[in-house]
Amino acid sequence: MRFETKAVHAGRQVDPVTGAVTTPIHLSTTYERAEDGTYTDGFMYSRGDNPNRRSLEACLTELEDGHDCVTYASGMAAIASVIEALPPEKPQRIVMADDMYFGVRTLLAETDIGRRYDIVTVDMTDLEALREMVESADTGLIWMESPSNPQIKITDIEAVVDIAAAAGAYTVIDNTAATPMLQSPLALGVDFSLHSVTKYIGGHSDLLLGAVVAKDDTQMLNNLRNWQHAKGAVPSSFDCWLALRGVQSLSARMRVHCANAKAIAEFLAQHDRVEAVHYPGLPSHPSHDIAKRQMSDFGGLLSFQVKGGEKEALKVANTVEILTQATSLGGTHSYIEHRASVEKELTRAPENLLRVSVGIENVDDLKEDLDQALSRI
Ligand code: PLP
Repeated sequence: MRFETKAVHAGRQVDPVTGAVTTPIHLSTTYERAEDGTYTDGFMYSRGDNPNRRSLEACLTELEDGHDCVTYASGMAAIASVIEALPPEKPQRIVMADDMYFGVRTLLAETDIGRRYDIVTVDMTDLEALREMVESADTGLIWMESPSNPQIKITDIEAVVDIAAAAGAYTVIDNTAATPMLQSPLALGVDFSLHSVTKYIGGHSDLLLGAVVAKDDTQMLNNLRNWQHAKGAVPSSFDCWLALRGVQSLSARMRVHCANAKAIAEFLAQHDRVEAVHYPGLPSHPSHDIAKRQMSDFGGLLSFQVKGGEKEALKVANTVEILTQATSLGGTHSYIEHRASVEKELTRAPENLLRVSVGIENVDDLKEDLDQALSRI
């Protein structure tokens, strides 16, 4: 099956009891034990496993062509679990992209995870700097995010996988912005592909969920599965059901997200109130060729820098009428956000930068809205 067909069919079956074509939502937390003490249908207690979670995990495994998938209550729960699943016999040193998602920086700064591991950061687009960093001490895990958020940097995934293989380190990529449709990191050799399912896979800004898809059956995957159950940061059956509904239209939505984002990036690039546009689909993006090689399209996320500073950027965010000034990305609505004021002292975003999650509205409406907002600065 090809991607679009898998997105609709994988992990689902016609309900054997009722013939329902849409998977029912199973809210039961517990399941009946047989006389001999076993659980004939394989479910015991819903924190351990339940039909909706199992369907979603099967679907995401197929979409990423992986070995298995483990889901969590949010993308951040998935991120924390991946870090903590690093087996103790591996070096407890993690090399991360310096422009990693702000929530990861917050996790490291504000919880003991940041103190328990030796976490170092590097510009992942600078492969020589990465190689030196990895060779300077034993490394257990290399953490990529591509495209990154909000600076939209592109990592050369295969090159990083080679560096990791030489060091014997696991690799993980936050594949949220690319989605399994546009980028297949496991086929490029990455060990774990992570998603905030909250974003494009769910697709409608109405659920919170995280997922990690593993390439192989490893000790780290075993830890992820055990800790999902033992620590209990699991998604609800309802959120799994919503995600399985949303993912069916992922391919159709992504085509519009990508086309709209490309048109808006081109529009902004020639606008006289715009200083710079960051979108991997523009030939002017420094890693356009790498993106072209490893992505089938360039996604719905972009950022741009207005002429001026924070005041001018906030003026644009405050005067758009169709785009919503809101955090998050990957929904059908377009969102705009001034990341520097959201991220405060942990930010790496320039003060004149606005991130746009381009939705699936009519692109001319979006362009006109941005144009009227830009004309006021
Ligand atoms: N990864 C990326 C790239 C994100 O943008 C986000 C949320 O914005 C997350 C992970 C965290 O996901 P969640 O909000 O589902 O916890």
